[in-house]
Amino acid sequence: NRRIVLASRPHGEPKPEDFRLEEVPVPTPGPGEILLRTQWLSLDPYMRGRMSAAKSYAAPVEIGQPITAETVGEVVASNNPAFKVGELWTAFAGWQEYFVTDGKGSRRVDPDAAPPSTALGVLGMPGMTAYTGLLNIGEPKAGETVVVAAATGPVGSLVGQIARLKGARAVGVAGGPDKCRYLTEELGFDAAIDHRAPDFADALARACPKGIDVYFENVGGAVFDAVLPLLNDFARLPVCGLVSSYNATEVPPGPDRQPALMRMVLTKRLRIQGFIVWDFASQAEEFRREVGTWVKEGRVRYREDVVEGLEKAPEAFIGLLKGRNFGKLVVRVAG
Ligand code: NDP
Repeated sequence: NRRIVLASRPHGEPKPEDFRLEEVPVPTPGPGEILLRTQWLSLDPYMRGRMSAAKSYAAPVEIGQPITAETVGEVVASNNPAFKVGELWTAFAGWQEYFVTDGKGSRRVDPDAAPPSTALGVLGMPGMTAYTGLLNIGEPKAGETVVVAAATGPVGSLVGQIARLKGARAVGVAGGPDKCRYLTEELGFDAAIDHRAPDFADALARACPKGIDVYFENVGGAVFDAVLPLLNDFARLPVCGLVSSYNATEVPPGPDRQPALMRMVLTKRLRIQGFIVWDFASQAEEFRREVGTWVKEGRVRYREDVVEGLEKAPEAFIGLLKGRNFGKLVVRVAG
């Protein structure tokens, strides 16, 4: 059983030395348990938080333990009649090839319904994050303007497409011209703005002539700064992620801007609400049914960035926080 464990807690940007590939015996399932062989491994920005000891909504990964991750694995041995050898199931197996579980919290993945990797992307946790965060907190209405950054990723790309399905204008923010072209030409976004371009803030303002009604916050930092002055009265801001600061080691320098921010919250009556996807666990079925149908009908499109081999996971993860991925980042471990 090859696995990648946390060798040391990263300081700032993770480095290859913070990870260690090791081999341990394949575990044996006990009574009521199954052995899963990982086929697909999901790499997600939240894993950076788990590598730190800082207090958060979930416990950190311990040094010497495999990094947390959701996977799709094949049942290769089963002591539980609910799981048949050969079936595919999701699990939180982590960065490793084999995993023993009692299957609680796992979902069966039907390879005939959709490619199994989508259970980790558009039809999995990131898709549900976009769907629940946008519809419950963002509440986009026809004719409104919705802005989302990290817009080619699994969360952002679905936020923009659902906004369009609800009759809103979708403006995506992404890194580089290729990603921006993909948003307008392939996904039907109304505009796409490159956050690395020197005139980014002006370009965003030009793309939002009627201001911004919903800002789905994925990144924070300079994108949030450019969005703030464009927000309309009663704008809604689902705060989903702040990936621009996940590697930060200190508070950015400069004046304290909290009073100005709070004044804007008050005068514009902004609604800013953080959320974690599991807050909406009761909407999982509805999400899978509705987005599954949109994908089947071609009304929602998705893109995956597939990395071959478990040993590539650290390098791919380091690149994820810098925008090197283009689409949902998954590792093909086997199968
Ligand atoms: P992505 O695949 O979109 O990967 C992250 C992207 O962030 C990069 O590709 C890069 O895209 C962008 N990025 C990185 N640094 C910056 C920066 N400084 N400024 C602007 N953009 C930057 O990830 P996901 O779709 O999986 O996740 C998107 C967000 O949603 C993350 O913040 C994540 O933590 C959050 N999330 C939250 C959940 C919740 O329950 N609250 C659940 C799942 C995800 P580009 O090249 O376009 O800049």
